[in-house]
Amino acid sequence: MQFSDLPLDNRLLKLLEQLNFTEPTEIQRQAIPFALNGRDLIASSKTGSGKTLAFLLPALQRVTRQKALNKRDPRVLVLVPTRELAGQVYGQLRALLAGSPFKCALVLGGENFNDQEKLLRKDPHFVVATPGRLANHLDARSLALDGLELLVLDEADRMLDLGFAEQLRQINAAAGHRLRQTLLFSATLDHAEVEKLAADLLKDPKRIAIDAVT
Ligand code: ADP
Ligand code: MG
Repeated sequence: MQFSDLPLDNRLLKLLEQLNFTEPTEIQRQAIPFALNGRDLIASSKTGSGKTLAFLLPALQRVTRQKALNKRDPRVLVLVPTRELAGQVYGQLRALLAGSPFKCALVLGGENFNDQEKLLRKDPHFVVATPGRLANHLDARSLALDGLELLVLDEADRMLDLGFAEQLRQINAAAGHRLRQTLLFSATLDHAEVEKLAADLLKDPKRIAIDAVT
């Protein structure tokens, strides 16, 4: 199977080709069709299996092809547990946004708050963030999430292990668009707190577990 067998835009297919990605990984093959259809997902597969593109490709396709549901940006928020991982996701997103008019922002803990506030006030379409700092910006009203169409929880198990449950719930409550889609990725689904978070945040999720250890 090739990426071109998935219902992805030609622009994205060309970019993937330029980046030398030809065949989707198993998690990409299984997750992308449901994500493109607007379905909530709870998905697990091991580290290094390509989860980033499994959520970035549907996110990009939504923003670049579908009209915004309302005028409030950001349309997509990706929450990632650590600064390092967030930087990696942001790097891939930037590469895939090359040549498009869409803007993205990286919002990390430990960096200058006011600079981030200025960046957020420019209304980026995509935000990649660590949960603690994003919650601080909600408190400071640097951004509003009422136009959010897609929330991605990357490495949800690790975000919960790092103690971000409260911030995740705060962010979820602020992201109140009734048509919002949520994609939850985790290295494992065998995690009571992940299941509880999924039960609270996801609507009728499609469950995908690749190579689950049973
Ligand atoms: P995970 O989040 O599951 O740990 P990543 O999304 O970080 O995995 O991907 C791991 C590596 O695999 C990255 O270097 C990424 O560029 C590469 N990769 C992802 N998808 C593909 C693909 N379809 N074909 C080849 N390499 C890929
Ligand atoms: Mg990852």
